[in-house]
Amino acid sequence: PRNTAPGPRLRAVLDSIPGYRPTEGIYAAVPARPLSANESPHDPLPGLIAAIAAAGDAVNRYPDPESAELTRAIARRYGIDPDRVLVGAGSVSLLQAILQAVAEPGAEVVHPWRSFELYPVLAELAGIRSVPVPLTRGRNDLHALADRITDATRLVLVCNPNNPTGTVLGLPELKEFLARVPATCLVVIDEAYFEYVRDEAACSGIALLDAHPNLVVTRTFSKAYGLAGLRVGYLLGAPHSVGQLRKVRLAYSVSTVAQQAALAALRLEDELLRHVDATVAERARMRDALLAGGFDVPDSQGNFLWLPLGDASAAFGDLCTSAGIAVRTYAHEGVRVSVGSAQDNDAFLTVATRERSTVC
Ligand code: PMP
Repeated sequence: PRNTAPGPRLRAVLDSIPGYRPTEGIYAAVPARPLSANESPHDPLPGLIAAIAAAGDAVNRYPDPESAELTRAIARRYGIDPDRVLVGAGSVSLLQAILQAVAEPGAEVVHPWRSFELYPVLAELAGIRSVPVPLTRGRNDLHALADRITDATRLVLVCNPNNPTGTVLGLPELKEFLARVPATCLVVIDEAYFEYVRDEAACSGIALLDAHPNLVVTRTFSKAYGLAGLRVGYLLGAPHSVGQLRKVRLAYSVSTVAQQAALAALRLEDELLRHVDATVAERARMRDALLAGGFDVPDSQGNFLWLPLGDASAAFGDLCTSAGIAVRTYAHEGVRVSVGSAQDNDAFLTVATRERSTVC
């Protein structure tokens, strides 16, 4: 595309990129019941607040650019060396660093679709062609993803569990897939929601890191660990990739407050994982109620449920919004609802079951 707009000349690709504005029209109408961003509904634990307050004493100083203490704590958590861990300002900033790291002229990234909205956006911003590969029955289609790899492919993204459909991948299929990907092509498994997985057939990419030096797994403190507001994520991979990605990641982007909060979250992990158990129980309760109300609700292993409402999605999303409930609408595809507090979930279930006949 030609850049013909008046004023400063910015990259033409910006004209074609949809802005990622997930809260547009939502936070304008407070008080919304926040079931649109897959956050933890639990209040921060007192020990966490104390760590955040203590870290406040140092905000006149730059943070540790290496997040060294946090990096070591994450490494210990997984029983791996710290040179295999990289901390960033949310896993999204690490995904951005990864895309920049593979962005040679002509490079392509293969990724599932429908999946996390930012995959194609970050690719285009890095100057890489994004190659979306449709899901099969709501799942990342690993065969189709591997089929789309060409000499130009520098990265294959996999989302496990997939956002927004909640489906997971198992060990045999992941192994078979990784065996098909050339060793020169990076594979990133985005496990932002893995702590919510209860399906025993599901497999984390972390178990496969030793056998696959081209594999990187991203995780986050934003969901299960309840730190969405502080922006901390991390990736695990082979020392070589991690070392190269460390050069791309923006220095000083993880604040001291965020680093100390993530360390506290690891210390408080047992309690936080009990919160995750509660969310998993709520997920089952919500799904049962929706199934009983006549909705089609596929099993989800994330902290959200997917309602494949097709053309009724926008109308259903609007009904939720007018009832003060924020959900994520994917026009003509479906609606994703986060598993929130029992109260917010009940409010959603009331609206959903009341309105089902209107929209379905
Ligand atoms: N990956 C997936 C699949 C997500 O859904 C999200 C957030 N919604 C992220 C990554 C980014 O999370 P964060 O930057 O907060 O770690």
